[in-house]
Amino acid sequence: MDPAVADVLARYWGFDQLRPLQGEAIQANLEGHDSLLVMPTGGGKSLTYQVPPLVAESLDVVVSPLVALMKDQVDGLREAGIPAVAFDGSLTASERTRIRKDLEDGTYRLLFMSPEMLLGSSLPRFLRNVGVRAIAIDEAHCISQWGHDFRPEYRQLAGLRDLIPGVSIHACTATATPRVREDILRQLQLRDPRVMVGSFDRPNLTYRIRSRENRRAQILEEVRRHAGEAMIIYALSRRDTEQIAEALQKDGVPAAFYHAGLSRPERNHVHERFAREQLDVVVATVAFGMGIDRSNVRAVIHASMPRSIEHYQQETGRAGRDGDPAECVLLHSYADVERWRSLAERSFNEAMSVTDDPESLRAGFESQEGLLADMNALATTAICRHRSIVEYFGETYTSENCGSCDVCLGEVDLLEDSTTVARKVLSCVARVESSFGVQHVADVLCGANTDGIRRMGHDQLSTHGLLSDFTKSAVSNLIHQLIEQGWLSRTPGDRPVVQLNQQSRPLLRGEVEISLLQPRVKKTRSTSAAEDASWEGVERDLFESLRSLRREIADEIGKPPYVVFPDTTLRALARHRPADVTTLGFIKGVGEKKRRTYGPRFLSALDEWEQLHGGGRDIGLGTV
Ligand code: ADP
Ligand code: ZN
Repeated sequence: MDPAVADVLARYWGFDQLRPLQGEAIQANLEGHDSLLVMPTGGGKSLTYQVPPLVAESLDVVVSPLVALMKDQVDGLREAGIPAVAFDGSLTASERTRIRKDLEDGTYRLLFMSPEMLLGSSLPRFLRNVGVRAIAIDEAHCISQWGHDFRPEYRQLAGLRDLIPGVSIHACTATATPRVREDILRQLQLRDPRVMVGSFDRPNLTYRIRSRENRRAQILEEVRRHAGEAMIIYALSRRDTEQIAEALQKDGVPAAFYHAGLSRPERNHVHERFAREQLDVVVATVAFGMGIDRSNVRAVIHASMPRSIEHYQQETGRAGRDGDPAECVLLHSYADVERWRSLAERSFNEAMSVTDDPESLRAGFESQEGLLADMNALATTAICRHRSIVEYFGETYTSENCGSCDVCLGEVDLLEDSTTVARKVLSCVARVESSFGVQHVADVLCGANTDGIRRMGHDQLSTHGLLSDFTKSAVSNLIHQLIEQGWLSRTPGDRPVVQLNQQSRPLLRGEVEISLLQPRVKKTRSTSAAEDASWEGVERDLFESLRSLRREIADEIGKPPYVVFPDTTLRALARHRPADVTTLGFIKGVGEKKRRTYGPRFLSALDEWEQLHGGGRDIGLGTV
């Protein structure tokens, strides 16, 4: 390490080593070489623009989108003895004059400001005069409409190069797909930039994506598994956070909620208790994230799907910052896609009514749709999660089995014959001439006999009933998976139609193999409650011995066991333990013929059990 850098690092931060890429980024900055640094949150980007002005004894500017973040950083730097100041819209005229004066006197090393402020009428000339050396652009992805956090005011930074010539520009971001990266370089007109990209893989995180069936029960299960550990539960809306936190409290889990609708003191209170380990479970919107420095978060649960892989990567990234194993569970439902869509539409319409830059607003809105689709595809595809994430950010992933995601751990159920099933779906879409919606196609494939199908004559199609082994909801799930993976398209609008596309051909011709997830059949709570009730009063041992007798008989007659008696009948036998052929006849499922043929053998099995264990006979059958 450069001794001057080492000196500054030790003096102001007490660090004795640099992290990966920090050295390169600091060097580029000190050499006045434009640069782009892409590194996940927590990687240590801020140090790369904070150290150079201290070494060079210069004044450097940092552009940041959020005033609150800017202030926190300035406070932290001052705490460490570094002369830093934020220039923001809340300053009074006299405060501004004083800061300008101090800047002229060379009092400061770091000056933080928003893009609007930097490009304000008189500031560029002033900054040229005071001799600014370097400008760091934090959250540089905000400049790109292809990113997940496009801010039109960042667009103006494109003029920076001409307004303040001679400075070097250093862009930093925690998330940038290759496309966004290109856009940043182009927009900022970086000259021969050094591009440094850190790894986005977090090998200590285990990713699991589950279908959301019973939100409350599924969240509770995760919370119980991580009892006593720190955990963040992300939800889509403010109301969701409150509902989930309340449900957890009812289930005896001390949980707090956090969202932007709370007052500042309320938010600080949650933040502080979480940081001090007085509180372990926080249910929050994305507003909870900035400045969470608790490094031992053991689980991040997504009660809803985030609206982009960028968000997913950042939010899950708050788990396991200490490097110990941590778990990320996403409860996925297609309904979240619809919710995000309508939210985006609403805020787009609101913004359109006041904007003076409708074009970039529209472009930003349109790219949201793609980001959402990418996230949904990740959640609904049977591809290693570590691989999906890092490849999304343009990295290559070499491991065949990460050993730390549900796909690689073999926890997801893949549909056997995925490719064949997919081809059946595609040929049905072709038969109905790509002019019907998901529900109709599913009806045809299931062989339904609806008015619509008869009217169209679709019961005459060769594909009618081709997937009648599946329920309709399973088939529509499969169609959605095919759309999400891109093998089929869906038209936009109110009455979307499923269509074949470019990608469909090779699949139809059998040139590619694909994987689909086994569609889950919704289980309702009542069936599992009924399940529990069905074991009431049944001795498992007795049930097992009756079951082995059933297997014996089934073997003799060469039929499957349920032909002898179904499980419910075995449980009833074990529960009531009939004493003779008469009461045996009272048991549901024991008909006349079976009573004669199999009755005696089951009765002697019950005799045998009673001799060993006692417990009586004809239980609950006496009054009959
Ligand atoms: P980013 O801006 O990339 O999200 P930060 O700059 O906030 O990351 O750094 C994350 C944490 O890592 C901070 O607590 C910071 O003090 C710490 N850190 C950064 N660089 C080093 C280093 N070289 N040695 C030790 N800790 C570091
Ligand atoms: Zn994996």
